[in-house]
Amino acid sequence: MKDLEGFKSLISKPKKVVIVTHFKPDADALGSSLGLAGFLKKKGHSVQVITPSDYPKFLHWMPGNDKVLAILKDQPSTEQKASEFVANAEVIFCLDFSSLNRIHSLGEMVRNAKATKVLIDHHLEPEHFAHYEHWDPKAASTAGLIFDLIEIMGEKSSLDKDIANCLYAGLLTDTGGFRHSNTTQKEFLIASELVGAGANPSWVSKMIYDTNTLARMKLTGFVLSQKLIVLPEFRTVYICLDSDELKQFDTKTGDTEGLVNYGLSIEGIRLSVLMYDRKEEIKLSFRSLGNFPANEIARKYFDGGGHRNAAGGSTKLSLEETLKKFLSILPEYKSQLESDD
Ligand code: 5GP
Ligand code: MN
Repeated sequence: MKDLEGFKSLISKPKKVVIVTHFKPDADALGSSLGLAGFLKKKGHSVQVITPSDYPKFLHWMPGNDKVLAILKDQPSTEQKASEFVANAEVIFCLDFSSLNRIHSLGEMVRNAKATKVLIDHHLEPEHFAHYEHWDPKAASTAGLIFDLIEIMGEKSSLDKDIANCLYAGLLTDTGGFRHSNTTQKEFLIASELVGAGANPSWVSKMIYDTNTLARMKLTGFVLSQKLIVLPEFRTVYICLDSDELKQFDTKTGDTEGLVNYGLSIEGIRLSVLMYDRKEEIKLSFRSLGNFPANEIARKYFDGGGHRNAAGGSTKLSLEETLKKFLSILPEYKSQLESDD
């Protein structure tokens, strides 16, 4: 953070704080938000976490979850309440996203708010709408950046078990369980500090990875046996799920998370894509290996973005048209897909 002293002075007295994170928050988005909320509450601030949508049940264990205001389409009062919090806030933290369109209707509320804005994030190409930025695209997780910030402010002693578990969850999942190429010594150092502050790695892992419903397990089985399509000439795997298939397995928010990773675990595959019908749009998730730029495909063709090896986007096309579009761009990337870099 450039003006650390300015930031410290901003939060030196109790303020009305709002923390927002991206649409369909994952464990890093929610964990960094609730970890920061826990820290700021200890410092005497009044804090409201707002999410632009619902989120998976396997994140509901996080301390502070019961106070989160989630904007729900079928409950207009949630959006009204959110706009009041945002308009009245003195400080707004924006966590784990870098451009305001990723928070949907909240985006314009935040842009127009009088509050001082603070961006803490690790995605590429930030929109630079905030007064303070703690931004590092090399950081594996936003949760790790929250830990950094608490540490450089000299406030490590404020960490407690609840804050540490929330931050550990973000670090764990954004590194794919310390398996992705973004896992460096730094991530283990942060993990070590969080465990020292009371985080419980086996409990957090259990809550996130091993609390499946039977329906979700059956969806996974169905996808692996029936829906995984391999295109050996492009070293690509794709999965398409239509709304009937999602309904058949009573699919809830978060149930499709992780499916896209299975494709990449097949030997020789360099690009894996999941497309599914989210009713209001078709959502795409991309995973790649090595230097293959999954985020370029997401940005150029699917109104999205992300990291080189993990990206996402969406279309307003039908599922069939989305698949057609995806297949039509593969030849452009053939040589990069053939390379082992
Ligand atoms: P996931 O596939 O898990 O939904 O997302 C993987 C990564 O892709 C996220 O961490 C985020 O960086 C990026 N991402 C996912 N969806 C979108 C999107 O709609 N727009 C942008 N800009 N990035 C996205
Ligand atoms: Mn993240």
